[in-house]
Amino acid sequence: MANGQDDDQKIKKRIPFSKNNAFCIAPWTHTYISPQSERRMCCASREQHSFMQQYIDQAGEGKTASYQPLTLEEHWNSDHMRSIRRKMLSGEAPAECMVCNEQVLNIYTYKSYFNKVLFPHHIQKAYDLTDDTGRTSMRPVSYDYRLANTCNFKCRMCGEPLSSSWEQEKRQYSEWDPNRDIWMQPHINAEIKKFQREVVEQEFARAITSGTMEEIYWVGGEPLMWEQHWRYMQDLVDLGFSKNVHVRYNTNLSKIVHKGVHLFDDILPHFKSYNVCASIDAAGKVGEFVRTGLNWEKWLENFKSGLPYMKKRGADSLIMDVTLTLPGLFGMKELHDLAIELDVKMYVKIVFAFDPSIVLSPFAAPKKVLHSILDDLLREIEPKANSKTMVLVETLKEMKNRPTFEEAYPDTYQEGFLRGRDQQRRLARYRKDGEESRLTIEQIYERNPALSQWWNS
Ligand code: SF4
Repeated sequence: MANGQDDDQKIKKRIPFSKNNAFCIAPWTHTYISPQSERRMCCASREQHSFMQQYIDQAGEGKTASYQPLTLEEHWNSDHMRSIRRKMLSGEAPAECMVCNEQVLNIYTYKSYFNKVLFPHHIQKAYDLTDDTGRTSMRPVSYDYRLANTCNFKCRMCGEPLSSSWEQEKRQYSEWDPNRDIWMQPHINAEIKKFQREVVEQEFARAITSGTMEEIYWVGGEPLMWEQHWRYMQDLVDLGFSKNVHVRYNTNLSKIVHKGVHLFDDILPHFKSYNVCASIDAAGKVGEFVRTGLNWEKWLENFKSGLPYMKKRGADSLIMDVTLTLPGLFGMKELHDLAIELDVKMYVKIVFAFDPSIVLSPFAAPKKVLHSILDDLLREIEPKANSKTMVLVETLKEMKNRPTFEEAYPDTYQEGFLRGRDQQRRLARYRKDGEESRLTIEQIYERNPALSQWWNS
């Protein structure tokens, strides 16, 4: 890691957890690696990248370095990780954790999930088993290992690092730059695949067979498209460890049966608990626009097949996991109606955007237009919302307090908008929007004349 050259530094004073707002248990329990071998504390942390930027990084921040992946052993007590632990134990919030500490993505943060839900039982151990340099004898018990970017969808707010379908499209239309997208160069790409297969997957396999695994976060790419998902989950069942493991998914839920084995009927009943976050960003045809590859009817059928288990497994076992985008707002009322009808919980986040070219972000729209869309939605949704869906209401309200791109990026807003809109228009051509009952973004925005006028300006 490029971070931290402060080996000699020691913790001066440990702030007890009860008074320590900076502390997060993730750096003692959890480990993350991207499909391009970028290691981080978790998927929300914004470390300086060692090889390539992550979706969560500010565009253009830092340099692309050469591909020199670290093993888990090299990473776990590295200068960087020790420096983070020292800061957290001393009550100093690491800059890398701004997404949680400033609630950038959602109101309910990943940090609170780690501290309060997943690993409160490890917090005292973290204090006890970490020396003053930040070295810990604890080992990860929770893995977010993105073995590959294999995914059958091309959601418009995603991209090639996390979707092989995006990657294929970029290659097909020569939309990639070998100098910028170094990981896509064939020889580097082959090296990455080799490391992911021979090192990363083997680390994961060892954690599976060690019996120490407490939590797996399956996310990709699309984890249900990976043969490894089905194999390792079956291994946990066969080894008798599954009863100790909580599993978490972010999935597009397009495939829930593999070689006759059904996710909800045959695999998940063996696990201690589970939390299947089925990504869905709007109902019906608007949803299909936002998430290229989505078949709304099929998604609904697959989602319903998990419902019978909810009574026993709890309201968090099957979730409508919503990322709010600007076009998606036009299918949000129907999605909320469905959540009420099926009596399921929603998780809600806002599409990540550190750059004004992310024109699918709601904040790309002019403030007045956005607020009128949000007000219309709130008028429809709020009276029907219940405790399982109230987070949508809260998030829509909260969005009114956030700056739009025009306010946040006064100097680059216009250029960013034009760049982002050009990219969306190219995608529309590649994906043949408007054909075979597919919507175009223009058709979606026609529902609000002021928005349509802005988009076409
Ligand atoms: S505070 Fe947030 S970003 Fe930092 S390690 Fe914890 S979960 Fe990750």
